[in-house]
Amino acid sequence: MENGRSGRRGIALAAALLLAVPALRETNAGSGNAPGPALDAAGDGVRASESCQVIQTMGFSRCGHSVTRRVRIPQELAGADFREVQAHYSVWRIEKFAADQIEMDREIPLFCPAHRVLSVSEAGEIVLTWNAYGDGMAVEKTYEDRSVGDFTPEEQEKLLSGMGFDTREDAEAWLQAH
Ligand SMILES: [Zn+2]
Repeated sequence: MENGRSGRRGIALAAALLLAVPALRETNAGSGNAPGPALDAAGDGVRASESCQVIQTMGFSRCGHSVTRRVRIPQELAGADFREVQAHYSVWRIEKFAADQIEMDREIPLFCPAHRVLSVSEAGEIVLTWNAYGDGMAVEKTYEDRSVGDFTPEEQEKLLSGMGFDTREDAEAWLQAH
């Protein structure tokens, strides 16, 4: 297979290949040679304080970016131990558990909110989407004059898995060129 004429196709493909790369692990390796953060995290007898900060890092495997947010612990979890907090945040992996700070991460197989993504809707339409919810894509625009059949099998495959671009203009330039 020869390289695409357009550099963007190469970029989109490279982004797709990042799927399998656990980008987050690198940034969370701060605890040196510890046997594994999850083992350390459970801290015997530690309970979350009322003013405990929860630091959540979402790693987006399609683009390799991550987003971190810091929130105060929900009040119903004040005084909770590791097991109770982990049960509440069941889709997250707790990396650090201290009374005043809990760190957790999660890997999400999507592009982060900084991108526009061309893909195919359930109805088979070509749509422009973006990660509006962190863990879910929203449709921003439907290209009613285009259909999946306009594209080569290779392009269809990329569209089905989602093609990431920096901007809507970039995405539309790609559409016009294909
Ligand atoms: Zn990103």
